[in-house]
Amino acid sequence: MTKIRTRIAPSPTGDPHVGTAYIALFNTVFAKSQGGEFILRIEDTDQVRSTPESEQAILDSLKWLGLNWSEGPDIGGPFGPYRQSDRKDIYQRYSLQLLEQKHAFHCFCSSERLDTLREAQRLAGDDIGYDGHCRHLSETDVAAKLAAGESHVVRMVVPEEGTCIIKDLLRGDVEIEWQQVDMQVLMKSDGLPTYHLASVVDDHLMEISHIMRGEEWISSTPKQLALYQYFGWQPPIYAHLPLLRNTDKSKLSKRKNPTSITYYREMGILPEVLVNFLGMMGWTMPNGEEIFSLDAMVQAFDINRMSLGGPVFDLDKLNWLNGKYIREHHTPAQLLQRLVDWKFNETFATQLMPLVQARADTLADIAPLLMFFFQGNPAISEASFADLKTENEELMQLLQWVLWKLEARQDWTKAGIFADIKAVAEQREQKLKDVNAPLFIAITGSAASVSVMDAMALLGPDMTRGRLRHAIGVLGGLGKKKLKSLERQYQQLNKTGGQ
Ligand code: GLU
Repeated sequence: MTKIRTRIAPSPTGDPHVGTAYIALFNTVFAKSQGGEFILRIEDTDQVRSTPESEQAILDSLKWLGLNWSEGPDIGGPFGPYRQSDRKDIYQRYSLQLLEQKHAFHCFCSSERLDTLREAQRLAGDDIGYDGHCRHLSETDVAAKLAAGESHVVRMVVPEEGTCIIKDLLRGDVEIEWQQVDMQVLMKSDGLPTYHLASVVDDHLMEISHIMRGEEWISSTPKQLALYQYFGWQPPIYAHLPLLRNTDKSKLSKRKNPTSITYYREMGILPEVLVNFLGMMGWTMPNGEEIFSLDAMVQAFDINRMSLGGPVFDLDKLNWLNGKYIREHHTPAQLLQRLVDWKFNETFATQLMPLVQARADTLADIAPLLMFFFQGNPAISEASFADLKTENEELMQLLQWVLWKLEARQDWTKAGIFADIKAVAEQREQKLKDVNAPLFIAITGSAASVSVMDAMALLGPDMTRGRLRHAIGVLGGLGKKKLKSLERQYQQLNKTGGQ
């Protein structure tokens, strides 16, 4: 029997997402329950959006959750390298093979031509996709264009008719018409592969037996199956897991729910609770027990018992579960240790002292000034903002503007944050102190406190953004329409890359 090998293949393009942890959990549980291996591969083919910070944050947060891999970019392994940007030559070779066998072709179409094509397809109500313009260029034409150094991509050939049948472990046969499948770009003009080519080549070379991933990838599967066929490789077994949902059943999004794993760590959720909670998404223990450990899940796991009903990421349930663990699964001494590991430690306190030293007469003055660092969201209400004598609408727009600015920030330093806040004041033609005042309340919960820039720097991006979102909610929330028109203004003033 082939060895069971599963993988998680995150793209390091943002905050470590709870959806990544959810997929990692089921991959690890499935592999371990079958005596197999779970590996981690970094898919950083999008060089513009990928950052080393994001990669590190993904690795750190999965480790924090105890979802360990046996091969990966940090520990190596027999099938390395495990970062796609370190495997460029490999993809080049396989792309050449596809070109030689006429399963792929060079495409020299300009982005203007492709834009015009898309627009025409949209207006005609047709499927959007490449029209095959370069597919039948003669070999001499192609050679001449290549020799002249014309910019090009490599696209795959896809069957023109018939139906692709995906055999999905959870869903049975999923059928997709080949007509709906685009002639996907496999190699970009910069010589780097796209996700589709890279992941197929890697999954094959890394001997991945099962691909368990989110259902949003189903529509990509026909292209990948075609590639397996062109290469003459046995495809892995697919299982597309249901997407996590907000309580209103829409796809989990950070507009409605914080989605970053580090946010939950900062909020004081215990790692084993987040794992237990994610384990309840699409899975129940055979004995119906709601409290279970990763090991217990591995022991009991049976993929046939997974359900496809959209699992809801319900914060109330998560908090309830966390409370149960805190009250029922810890002695007071153990609880203290958890607090120390979290934030009640010298490393964190050392960073806080410079903020309070100038403001304290007695030691007893210090703790109240620092309270908000150890809270979830500060206890604020509409009344907290009353002294500012500004309309709620105006305040919310300002906080939202700051939020967008800070969502775009990559390096989380006091200087960087300050530059953003200053830019917000300039763009909105407001005084810096009028921007700072509501920020103080949103972030620290009171009108006067330690420096709000320092506070945001030390609270970190997740808690800062979370508190801004919370404050907007407390003030009533911005309606969809308002948000859209505000976003347009924001983008107008921020489009020159000044973020
Ligand atoms: N890099 C993809 C992601 O970010 C992986 C998709 C897959 O599992 O094939 O989720």
